[in-house]
Amino acid sequence: MSNIPEILSQSSFSHSDLEQLLQCEGEEKRLLYEAGRTTKELFVGNKVYFRGLIEFSNICAKDCYYCGIRRSNDAVHRYNLTDHEILNAASFADENNFGSVVLQSGENSSPAFAQRITNLITEIKQISNNRLGITLSVGEQSEEVYRQWYEAGAHRYLLRIETSNQLLYHKIHPQDPQHDFNRRLGCLHALREIGYQTGTGVMIGLPFQTLADLADDLLFFQQFGIDMVGMGPYLEHSQTPLYEFRNELLPLQKRFELSLKMISILRILMKDINIVAATALQAIDSLGREKGIKAGANIIMPNITPGLYRKDYLLYENKPCVDEEPSQCKGCLEARVALADGEIGFGEWGDSVHFKNRKSV
Ligand code: SAH
Ligand code: SF4
Repeated sequence: MSNIPEILSQSSFSHSDLEQLLQCEGEEKRLLYEAGRTTKELFVGNKVYFRGLIEFSNICAKDCYYCGIRRSNDAVHRYNLTDHEILNAASFADENNFGSVVLQSGENSSPAFAQRITNLITEIKQISNNRLGITLSVGEQSEEVYRQWYEAGAHRYLLRIETSNQLLYHKIHPQDPQHDFNRRLGCLHALREIGYQTGTGVMIGLPFQTLADLADDLLFFQQFGIDMVGMGPYLEHSQTPLYEFRNELLPLQKRFELSLKMISILRILMKDINIVAATALQAIDSLGREKGIKAGANIIMPNITPGLYRKDYLLYENKPCVDEEPSQCKGCLEARVALADGEIGFGEWGDSVHFKNRKSV
């Protein structure tokens, strides 16, 4: 028996501790998941908060090597929901007491796009009588645009760093100013400075990625003092350049377990943040998100994109729930959260406790 129980009893963790935790198996792995779960219950409670996810457009100006909706993928049927469709989805979230929505899309840095998002934020606030919290996940933008959206009423932003290892970042993106690690990092700093609850995350099991990289990712979240994290397994997509390396990947089940371990370790490291049980977990295991909740996550993003468009927002293959409508997702998730012994925080924003704590200091 190695010293996993001993590491778990510590109050701070070295890089080597984190690597050991990432490698644990069997009974030790069970202990790790249990520690993630009890830490969550102690610091943020056992409520799970919903963020209704509206994938409003798959049009993207970027060409990330891992992503199915990258600009160069000509096989994708591109769509852009109308404002009416987006507001309908937001009303659905409001009527069903989800508490919050996430607007997510491919990247677009045009002034018209910025203005459209501002208008949508204002309208979502209006139609929900300010009940809905709004998270944005629309990539890298200028500081002014981020500020404009914050002032319109968005208060959380998700921008995954994808990997904190700059060299690896360069391997999974084209080498040009549009795909620059430091620019993305600069965006995270700007978001935090403006006042957003700031979220980031990484993909787990990328080609060329090591356990040492993942340990670094965890330390990166901690050093940055991030408020929310959404991370999940990397899943290959046949119409992307990284597909070439599919034979070098960890088996799916290993990527899945590594993702659960990352959730538990992060929970122990950053006790009061919000952690998403990513949808990608469920692409591997039909109980993936429940297992994520049991390992320490406290946020779920039910997909409320109109069913018609879901099959065109395939960042990765085998994405779950693409043949469902929003109403089906709600019932399904309620049952799933109950299975994971969680309770849904209906009608609540479920803001990051970490954010509140850092603001009160
Ligand atoms: N365009 C925005 C938001 C949409 S993409 C952005 O990039 O920030 C949202 C996330 O999907 C990305 O941050 C990435 O981590 C994830 N993603 C893309 N391709 C993926 C894949 N093949 N496997 C797993 N996650 C993927
Ligand atoms: Fe576009 Fe985001 Fe996909 Fe990159 S990850 S290609 S920015 S949608």
